[in-house]
Amino acid sequence: MATPSELKSLVRERAQRRCEYCRLPEGLTQTSFQFDHIIAEVHDGPTTPENLAFACYYCNTYKGPNLAGLDGETGQVTRLFHPRLDRWREHFRWNAGEQVALTPIGRATIRVLRINHPDFSAMREALMQAGLFPTD
Ligand SMILES: [Zn+2]
Repeated sequence: MATPSELKSLVRERAQRRCEYCRLPEGLTQTSFQFDHIIAEVHDGPTTPENLAFACYYCNTYKGPNLAGLDGETGQVTRLFHPRLDRWREHFRWNAGEQVALTPIGRATIRVLRINHPDFSAMREALMQAGLFPTD
């Protein structure tokens, strides 16, 4: 059984020190990154590598204990992006600083986590132009 610090190190390095939802690299904002319970503890999500994701303050805060959101195109309740089960590129792509959804899961996630708040999109675009935000 990993110690809490070993677990945090594993999760951080596995994510290559980037937010697993909006891909923001750690250290480029004033706010510290967090260890997101993908299935929140309130829903009995365990503190295990399989249920943890590395997330920026904003994504983790807006996600809160949510497991799902509404797909803005269909109005359907749709589960959120799951960093351990889903591949980012299958659900999202970039259009300059805007994170574009490719699927209902992508749309619900961007909406709940407010990933395309104009301030965040502008910040990402500036970081991309400065070569500090990889778009791979
Ligand atoms: Zn994020």
